[in-house]
Amino acid sequence: MYENMMKIEFQSKSQNESFARVAVAAFASQLDPTIEELTDIKTAVSEAVTNSIIHGYENKDGIVKIEVHIKDNELTILVEDNGIGIENVELAMQPLYTSRPDLERSGMGFTVMETFMDSLEVESEKNKGTRLTMKKIFKSLS
Ligand code: ATP
Ligand code: MG
Repeated sequence: MYENMMKIEFQSKSQNESFARVAVAAFASQLDPTIEELTDIKTAVSEAVTNSIIHGYENKDGIVKIEVHIKDNELTILVEDNGIGIENVELAMQPLYTSRPDLERSGMGFTVMETFMDSLEVESEKNKGTRLTMKKIFKSLS
């Protein structure tokens, strides 16, 4: 079995969203992904990191952590914050649900992550934080 892992931590600033998505995509490139698979991963990471910054930390200072694991042709991405947490995860994951219509959010972030990845798990505790675990299986492994 082939295994590999990386971790990054960065401040909860919107300027770091593109850094996070490019870093994860660069690490995933060893799985020889298609352009489409890479776009899927970048989109999912963007949504997750944006949520940590604007919802988890409410645009205040905090640390976002990302861990990426490769096991053969399976990529697992963890995105974690120690922000305000989600009171009702089931409700939050409903398409079009947003707690911030005032910020012109559309409530589609979780739906996008679920669509572009093969699985999404959300663990959250009020005032402790939120951890997402997303998996994607790659067709080709060189
Ligand atoms: P969009 O992603 O379309 O801009 P959104 O961020 O509101 O809108 P989702 O990404 O689907 O929609 O998230 C749904 C809701 O879940 C958010 O409105 C927020 O209440 C809650 N949420 C999501 N991620 C977090 C997080 N890391 N910490 C706290 N709350 C979160
Ligand atoms: Mg969102």
